[in-house]
Amino acid sequence: MEPIVGDEVKIRTSDAEAVVEEVLPRRSTLIRRQTMKPQVLCANLDLAVLVLSTEPNFSEGMVDRVLVSAHAQSLDVVLVLNKADLVPRGSEARHRVERRLFVYEKIGYKVLFVSALEGEGLEDLRSLLGGRTSILVGNSGVGKSCLLNKLGQGQIEVTVGDISEKLKLGRHITTTTTMHRLPGEGPPAFLIDSPGARRFSIWDVKPEELKEHFIEFIPFARHCKFSDCRHLQEPGCMVKQAVEEGDVPPERYMSYQRIYQVLLEGTEGSFRSALWTESEHAEKRKRASVREADIGAPLSAIEIAVLRSSLHHLHHAFKGFCCKDSLRSMELIMTDENKDTDGMGYAAAAGKPKSDGG
Ligand code: GDP
Ligand code: ZN
Repeated sequence: MEPIVGDEVKIRTSDAEAVVEEVLPRRSTLIRRQTMKPQVLCANLDLAVLVLSTEPNFSEGMVDRVLVSAHAQSLDVVLVLNKADLVPRGSEARHRVERRLFVYEKIGYKVLFVSALEGEGLEDLRSLLGGRTSILVGNSGVGKSCLLNKLGQGQIEVTVGDISEKLKLGRHITTTTTMHRLPGEGPPAFLIDSPGARRFSIWDVKPEELKEHFIEFIPFARHCKFSDCRHLQEPGCMVKQAVEEGDVPPERYMSYQRIYQVLLEGTEGSFRSALWTESEHAEKRKRASVREADIGAPLSAIEIAVLRSSLHHLHHAFKGFCCKDSLRSMELIMTDENKDTDGMGYAAAAGKPKSDGG
């Protein structure tokens, strides 16, 4: 194996040099999808530090996607609101951002308010990084470079300012993944700075796996009536009940529904589709449509429920790549062949799927 940033290696030393003899097995890797093949950015990561700010403002949609991606790669996450100096304690702006981030704190994520500029919260962040290998994630302009420099106490120097500004000024921009050892007492903290991973647009989650990465659903999902409940329209869903009873934040549940839909349609961000390979495109299309092989075979009650409830989304997903025969077969499945086979009255509620323009 070629060594990459974060690898642990066995070395043999002689008088003046050291030779890498072996790359030790990796606990984890962070992979970025590229046009041709996936690029392994770094190894043995423990923690993703998601840096947010109010200027530029963050969006919950982005936060939820990062949390899903990180969980799917077995990475811990800490949410860091940088530029806390812009929302002084006690101000209305501070309350507003506290309320937004409390949603994440409530479900078990650590949230820190820091200011790279004025120093607030930096020591808490530093102690959180001790003994671990972490990576900075977050949109451009939130202050990741500033934070890195501050934590480096003069020993780290990366260029601050937005990319276009940096380009205009002709300053050096790091394009490689670098591991920095933070100065300080106690267990060593390693911080990885990787321009390639900053946006974290890594997306390897299938729609049916998504629910496993909304960590607050898990204790309730165990008690859903169906073991493969997707927490959408299924009866006896304990996750939905938990939302109604205030045990799962409704914002997160809505976010789950939105991301699920997008994954099903295979249209997660247009910028992403450019990163997919042709076979990945084919796979997405396959998932978004009802597979040929499934047509004619009986569908489970849940599948029928999901299909019925999201007809207009299916219609959308089919656009451009579903043939007339498939639509016709679906109509049959949904209106005749499975009439009341599930015994839950789904067939009774069925309408004819619209096939206009599909
Ligand atoms: P990056 O793109 O995430 O690396 O962001 P930079 O570190 O380049 O910072 C972007 C801008 O935000 C710069 O103009 C910084 O001076 C500013 N900035 C960074 N941290 C803070 C902070 O804690 N408070 C304030 N007010 N501005 C900050
Ligand atoms: Zn459920």
